[in-house]
Amino acid sequence: MTIEARLPLAPLCEWIRRVDDHAEARIALLRRAAAALAGECVVRESDRAELADKMERWRYQHLNARSGQMVAQDSRLLDALDLAAAELAGRTARPPRRTRELLRDESLVTARIAEASEMLDESYPLDDLIEQATALTVERFGDPGSGRLPGLDRRMLLYAPLYLSNHCINHCVYCSFRHPQPIERTHLSFDQGKAEADILIGRGFRHILLLGGDFPRLTTPEYYAEMIAYLGKQGVAAAVEIAPQSTAGYAKLVEAGACGVTLYQETYDERRYAEFHPRGSKASYDWRFEGLDRAAEAGMGRLGLGFLLGLADPVKELQAMMRHAAYLQLRYPDRTIAFSLPRIHDAPGGFRPPCLVGDDLFIRMYCVLRMAFPEAQLVLSTREGATLRNRLATICITQMSAGSSTAPGGYESCQCRPSGEQFPVIDQRSVADVVAWLKDHAFRLTWEIQSR
Ligand code: SF4
Repeated sequence: MTIEARLPLAPLCEWIRRVDDHAEARIALLRRAAAALAGECVVRESDRAELADKMERWRYQHLNARSGQMVAQDSRLLDALDLAAAELAGRTARPPRRTRELLRDESLVTARIAEASEMLDESYPLDDLIEQATALTVERFGDPGSGRLPGLDRRMLLYAPLYLSNHCINHCVYCSFRHPQPIERTHLSFDQGKAEADILIGRGFRHILLLGGDFPRLTTPEYYAEMIAYLGKQGVAAAVEIAPQSTAGYAKLVEAGACGVTLYQETYDERRYAEFHPRGSKASYDWRFEGLDRAAEAGMGRLGLGFLLGLADPVKELQAMMRHAAYLQLRYPDRTIAFSLPRIHDAPGGFRPPCLVGDDLFIRMYCVLRMAFPEAQLVLSTREGATLRNRLATICITQMSAGSSTAPGGYESCQCRPSGEQFPVIDQRSVADVVAWLKDHAFRLTWEIQSR
């Protein structure tokens, strides 16, 4: 649906002049887009893509600028920009994004989610919940009949994080990479990143998660795309956990071979979000919240959701994340959904998370995710200790990292100076030790991403 079909330009332009400091540039952009969409002039594909990108960015600038004072025209303009950008970029027609509304949309709370949410209440016996979550995981991810330990023989995907850069312009209060935290900053060159990747490949990994801070001059989509393409040639599936990208940016990563994206909302509580992300591009709640929408639209096959445990009420956060996942599943039913529950244990500058989560609630939350989303990948990093990781592995986890470093150059392939890590690795076991434990407990290890 074109801009003109949704919205007559003349009255819209009058309204833009009243509310937008850059009104004339905006209106000129709208007119160019409207003409291109109406076929009134010949527009090269690259120009259409550029127009689409500009309209997408304007939409987020408008969301930020008008936050808290939206009127009907805002919604109409936002939808028009959303749809026009998609149409200009030649993407498949779809309804407008409704990410913000999902937090209030009761229709997203399926019977499964509702039933699982009741198990979040601590009056629901944890042992019963663990038993059900374990049985469901074995049913969906198991290999019945072949196990030495009945009920435990199932697949576990091992992956490794590869930090490429710890430069960052953002001020996230809980993160060691935040600006201007005085840590050693390292940005790996392609050759340095490749050397780190080769070490991980040598250890057996065939799924690598690329990570980096948000530093637009250095950590560009092209920078990650080069590494993704290299990994693809080595038979490694690469996913990214990087700053949110534009739809076009994600498309470059997909084109290079990226299999998925992990993007934690950190907190769905908008007030808390503003408190913990005071400056930098990450201060834009909507840009981050819609990141998975943009990634999915660009063709990412795996969508990884999460929030940072410790920042806000964990039960409300989990419920918001489940709605978010249900929303994405409705719009992109062919994608794999993955969940992670990263928990803050240590933070720089004396930051104290206001809502600490104990082990029992942590386990309960993972079990609830399994009950609500039986097919989802549940991911657990080395932020947690070996004992708890082992326990959760036998319950519901289907993907875990091992032998991780959270610092660029941390696998010590290159002669760069030691740089700061993002968070301490609690499970310090080597890859071999984790593999041995899993094998002893009748897990069938997979190193490559498989379709379910
Ligand atoms: S959480 Fe991410 S964006 Fe925030 S400071 Fe750390 S690396 Fe940067």
